[in-house]
Amino acid sequence: MSSNLAGGHVRTQTSSIITTTVCFVLVALVLTGLMAHVVVTMARSANEIDDARATRAARAAIAAFASRLSATTTDNAVWDDAYQAISSPAAADWAYENWGKTSADYALYDGAIVIGPDGSSIISAYAKGKPFEPGAFFGDAFYRQIDKAAAPGRGPVVNFIKTETGIALIVSQAVQPFAAQGELPKLSVLSLYKDLTPEVLSTLSGEHELEGLRIAATPEAGLLSTPITDMGGDVIGHLVWPSKAPGNTVFHQVYPYVAAAVIILVMFLGGVLLVGAIEARRLHQQAQAAIFQANHDSLSGLLNRHGLLALLEEFEGNDFSSPRLFLVDLDGFKAVNDAWGHAVGDDLIRIVSRALIACHPEAVAAARLGGDEFALVQIGNAARKEIEETVLGLFAEPFKIDGRTIEVGASIGSAAREEDMTPLELLRRADMALYRAKENGRGRAIEYDPELDRERQRIAEMEGLLKSAISNGAIEAFFQPLVSASTGVVTGLEALARWRAPTGNISPEIFIPLAERCGLIDALGVHMLKTSIEHAKNWLDLTLSVNVSPVQLCNPEFAAEVISLLHELDFDPKRLTLEITEGVLMTNPEQARRSIDHLKQVGIKFALDDFGCGYASIGALRQFGFDRMKIDRSLVSALDQGSNGADVLRATISLATALQIPVTAEGIENTRQAAILREAGCDQLQGYLIGKPMSANDISAKLQDHAA
Ligand code: C2E
Ligand code: MG
Ligand code: MG
Repeated sequence: MSSNLAGGHVRTQTSSIITTTVCFVLVALVLTGLMAHVVVTMARSANEIDDARATRAARAAIAAFASRLSATTTDNAVWDDAYQAISSPAAADWAYENWGKTSADYALYDGAIVIGPDGSSIISAYAKGKPFEPGAFFGDAFYRQIDKAAAPGRGPVVNFIKTETGIALIVSQAVQPFAAQGELPKLSVLSLYKDLTPEVLSTLSGEHELEGLRIAATPEAGLLSTPITDMGGDVIGHLVWPSKAPGNTVFHQVYPYVAAAVIILVMFLGGVLLVGAIEARRLHQQAQAAIFQANHDSLSGLLNRHGLLALLEEFEGNDFSSPRLFLVDLDGFKAVNDAWGHAVGDDLIRIVSRALIACHPEAVAAARLGGDEFALVQIGNAARKEIEETVLGLFAEPFKIDGRTIEVGASIGSAAREEDMTPLELLRRADMALYRAKENGRGRAIEYDPELDRERQRIAEMEGLLKSAISNGAIEAFFQPLVSASTGVVTGLEALARWRAPTGNISPEIFIPLAERCGLIDALGVHMLKTSIEHAKNWLDLTLSVNVSPVQLCNPEFAAEVISLLHELDFDPKRLTLEITEGVLMTNPEQARRSIDHLKQVGIKFALDDFGCGYASIGALRQFGFDRMKIDRSLVSALDQGSNGADVLRATISLATALQIPVTAEGIENTRQAAILREAGCDQLQGYLIGKPMSANDISAKLQDHAA
């Protein structure tokens, strides 16, 4: 999964978790709000309903109180006996006996007043059984009440009235016969009053379920109230009482449950938020890790190719930080892996990684692009050479790993970013320079040059030409004689490839490596083997030597292909010698051994070519079962240059002969060389002195001359 995909996927997951959590919390909060609203509304409604009931009850209490006193007054005023008595001279006594005395201790009224027909003379006035002055006790309002009540045909006049001590209910009615006959004269008026005492209020509150009922001058905060008005409509006091607030009672009953539910909900939401936060955090970390992994190499911890390109992209368009890219490839890393195992190889990679990232202050980033290939990004003014020397300096001393001394080198290819250059192009250029550095040998540093691209182009063109040359037979086999050192008789021929290109002859030293690199060597090898065998069939009794590239030998199908070709062409395998160079013995010894063993079984012989110019040991000769050794031309030509060349040659040849491996000397150009080599023990000679590589026709002609 790419970093973007991994990161994007996790980001989507994170945002969906956050959305879900937020939705959940919002829904839960809305539900809680609704629930709280319902509870509060229910409590408030219950309170309001009960308050309204209580207010009605208070008014009903007042009305009941008034109607009771009113009924009592009517009972006493509309009474034939009273009418007659009050009209008589004994009115005062009669009034005292019937009403004044009673008022001393009577539940229905506290005082009784009888005012004469003139509306002002007091016939009788008693409060609580004692005479009193109504005008002083009630004030002016009393006489207005009498006035109203005196009107003929009037029923009882009921009013609250302010008294010296508080508020009282007073009912006045004209004293009259039960059944009036004709028009009555102006009548006396009986008034009964009852103080609104705490006892009265207590009785009223008991009767009407109004606990705490009392009188107050003004309404009081937090208490229910209803006004008490006098005859003139003026408010003279208020009945006040506390609300029962049943909603509050219910609320207080359910409160613990509601509180518990809220606490549980809060804890639950807290839990949901916590889980959501933890999950979101985990996903965030996962995303960060995925992005890190996608951009970094797990072994070294450095950037990987993807991370390097992403970093270079960040520098794109930033003129102040034009980076230079160095690609560093370890020389000899494979040998470390092969010799010490992958664990040591991994340790080495880690050590080199740490060293690279810290090697220079201007090295802002390091990356590992492959097994043993690293990249270094430089930003700054330090010279390219300075960085190269610093990097190569890291490999100057051997590395110490677990007590082992490990020596590796490095090759460097570099390129500087030019304007509008993509990171991929920068990488390609540095890579091309590195390729060239590796080609040039170990420990080299090469900077990208457009010439490298042109050369790559030329090679590509040449590859095309080589491909068609192989298929259309433009590659020809030439033959160089191999003669017996003792007799000088031609015993064999070595086939050498010749390419007559339209632009001129191209050396096998050029086109063989090219064919190896571009995968044409197998086709070229088969072509050479086939054409040279076809010619060699005409030269009976002579052996045929054909050069085989290490790349061919590493092909697991090579041996079978050669054998089937010999069958096809009906050529005696015992006449064929395959010449191989030592390279393959180092790079892929297992496969080389399998191919050699397989081919030797059918009688094909093997010669180790160019011995002495590389690292191949005499031991390798024996180990791989070579039938012949060919001493490299450079050793032969050295005979003409130095003093001890002959000694080296002699020693080499005697070692081979001691192992019973015959030796061919190649590149003999003069008789002195031939004499030394013959004397040193070579049994076969080859070189311009004996014969240059020739076309098959020339060889045939030459052989005929000899025979003649
Ligand atoms: P080699 O197999 O060692 O072949 C000998 C080379 O030395 C040949 O060069 C030959 O022309 C040259 N030579 C022989 N005697 C003398 C001498 O007295 N003086 C000098 N200066 N040179 C002498 P050539 O033909 O250019 O081949 C070069 C190499 O290319 C061969 O070295 C061989 O490794 C490779 N090669 C040639 N043909 C083939 C082929 O068909 N297949 C493969 N795989 N490699 C081939
Ligand atoms: Mg050869
Ligand atoms: Mg050779």
